[in-house]
Amino acid sequence: MSEFELNRRGLIGASVLGAAMVGLASCDNKGTLAPGVSKADFAGAIKAMRSVVGDEWVFGDPEAVMPWGKVYVPDPNGRHVPLGAVCPRTVEEVQEIVRIANKYKQPIWPISTGKNMGYGMAAPATPGQIVLDLKRMNRILEVDADLGTCLIEPGVTYQQLKDYLDDNNIPLWIDVPTVGPIASPVGNTLDRGVGYTPYGEHFTFQCGMEVVLPNAEILRTGMGSIEGSTAWQAFKWGYGPYVDGLFTQSNFGIVTKMGMWLMPRPPVYKPFMIRHDNMADVPKIIEAMRPLRVSSLVANCNLMMSASYQLAMFKRRNEIVPDGQPLDDASVKKAAKANGLGMWNTYFALYGTEQTVAAIEPIIRAQLTASGGEVLTAAEMGDNPWFHHHATLMEGGLNLDEIGLLRWRGAGGGLAWFAPVAAAKGAEAEGQTKLAREILDKHGFDYTAAYAIGWRDLHHIIALLYDKSDPEQEKKADACYQDLVTTFGKKGWASYRTGVNSMELVAQQYGQTNRDFNKLLKNAIDPNGVIAPGKSGIA
Ligand SMILES: Cc1cc2nc3c(=O)[nH]c(=O)nc-3n(C[C@H](O)[C@H](O)[C@H](O)COP(=O)(O)OP(=O)(O)OC[C@H]3O[C@@H](n4cnc5c(N)ncnc54)[C@H](O)[C@@H]3O)c2cc1C
Repeated sequence: MSEFELNRRGLIGASVLGAAMVGLASCDNKGTLAPGVSKADFAGAIKAMRSVVGDEWVFGDPEAVMPWGKVYVPDPNGRHVPLGAVCPRTVEEVQEIVRIANKYKQPIWPISTGKNMGYGMAAPATPGQIVLDLKRMNRILEVDADLGTCLIEPGVTYQQLKDYLDDNNIPLWIDVPTVGPIASPVGNTLDRGVGYTPYGEHFTFQCGMEVVLPNAEILRTGMGSIEGSTAWQAFKWGYGPYVDGLFTQSNFGIVTKMGMWLMPRPPVYKPFMIRHDNMADVPKIIEAMRPLRVSSLVANCNLMMSASYQLAMFKRRNEIVPDGQPLDDASVKKAAKANGLGMWNTYFALYGTEQTVAAIEPIIRAQLTASGGEVLTAAEMGDNPWFHHHATLMEGGLNLDEIGLLRWRGAGGGLAWFAPVAAAKGAEAEGQTKLAREILDKHGFDYTAAYAIGWRDLHHIIALLYDKSDPEQEKKADACYQDLVTTFGKKGWASYRTGVNSMELVAQQYGQTNRDFNKLLKNAIDPNGVIAPGKSGIA
C-alpha cells in the first residue's frame, strides 16, 4: 500500500505524513537487524505477519517504513530507525503477531497513534525492530455516562473521543495533552503523560486494562478478570498485587484496551492567567501556588510558562533576536510585553458552581497577588491567542497551537523534551531554572521551558529546540541533551519520562537495584525479549 493510500485511509495523520516528507533526507534506514536476528528470520517474520493481517498492512522495505522512522529527537547515528511496521486490527491478530515475534525472535515496538513528539514519535529505542502500529484498533467500546467512564482501544484519538461525547450529548469532558487532536489516550497514559483539567494526571484516572502478554496470553487487570463484573472501569485495584503500573513506561505487554475516568462537565468554568514580570519570580510563584494545589483549591495541574516558550508557539526566533545572537532576557521581555505576556505566565482554572467559584476566587486572588503576580481573566485577556490556547486546554478542548515550537529555529523541526522532576518548592525550581539556563547557554540553545505544577511535584518541561536539517546542530543538541540529563541527575533531578534517545541514560540514574528488578521481571515474562527491547532502558 502506498503512502497516499495509507493517508487516504486516515492511518498516517497529516503531521506524520508532513514530518515524513520533511525527514526524507535525514531518515536513513540502515537496515540494521536486531541482535541475534538473521535476514532470513526477519523475512520469515514479515511473511508470517502478512499472512495474519494481509499484505497491505505489513511494511518491510525502507521506503515504506519511513513514516515510522521520523523523529524530532537528536539521532545523529541513526539508531532509531525501525526495520518494518505491521498494523493489526484485532486483539487476535496482535496475539498472532506476538507468537510470530517469539518464533523468529524478532522484536516488535508497540505504539498506539505514534505521536510521541519530542520523545521519539513511533520510532523504537534500538535498531532492528518492527513497529506494531495499533492505529487501526480504534473502537470506542463503551462510555458510561452515569459513572463517567469509558473503555477504548489504542488507536482512538482524543479528537475521536471528544466528537463521540459531543455527538451523543454526553456531558463529560476528556483531559488532553497539548497535541490531543492527533494523539491517543492509551499511548499518552502508557507513557504517563499529563493534561490540564483536574483529571490531568492521566495514569491516576486510568481504570482497567486488557494486555496481550509476551507469551500471547490475554490479561485483564483489576475487576476485568472477574466474569460478569460491571466494575472493571469503576474500581482500579481489583485484588492482590496491583499490576497496571507494570504496563506503563515498560515493555512487559501490549495494551489492547484501556479504561478511563471522564470528568463531569462543571456548571462553571473560569480560566485565569497570572502574569509575573521577571525571570527571578520563579520561587515566589511556586511557593504561592503549592498550598493552593495541595489543598485542591486550584484543582487542575497548571502550567507556568516562560515567555520564551510562549513566544516560540507563535513566533520564529529571528523575529525576537537576529540569527546567531543569544536570546537575551531584554529582547524576550520586550516581545512578551508587546503580546500581553509576562516573563512567566501561569494558567489555572476554577471549576464548580457559581457559589463555589465565587467563594474560592478571592482567596486565590489574594495569594497570587501577594506573590507579585497580576491576576487576569478572559475579561482582561480578550482574544489573546496564548490565553485562548491554555483556556481551551484547561476545559479539555483540542488545538495544535504548540506544534509551532517546531518552527522556532530553522526549517528542520528538531525537538527533544527534557523533563526533570522536582518537589514543588520555590528553591528547587529556582535551582533547576538556573542550572538549565547555564547548560543550554553553554551549548548555544535557548531556555524555552515551562513548569507543570502537579499536586506536590513539578515537571520542569524543557523544550530543547534545534534545527534538525543542520547535522552539526543535531550533534550539538545531542551533546546538550546528554549534559542536561547527566548534570541534573547528579543533583537528584531525574526525568519523569524520556525519549528513545536517552532511555538507557535515564534508567542508569534510577540505580542498579531498580534495573535488576526490571530485568528480572523482563526475563521471567518475555524470555525471548521480543516486546520493545530498550524501552525505559529495559533490554
Ligand atoms: C508541542 C508538543 C506538546 C506536547 N504536549 C504534551 C502534553 O501536554 N502532555 C503530554 O503528556 N505530552 C505532550 N507531548 C508529547 C506527546 O506528543 C504526547 O504525549 C502524545 O500523547 C504521545 O503520543 P501518542 O499518544 O500517539 O502515544 P504513542 O506514541 O502511541 O505511545 C507512546 C509510547 O507508549 C508506548 N505504547 C503506546 N501504546 C502502547 C500499547 N498499546 N502497548 C504498550 N505500549 C504502548 C510506546 O512505548 C510508545 O512509544 C507534546 C508534544 C509536542 C510536540
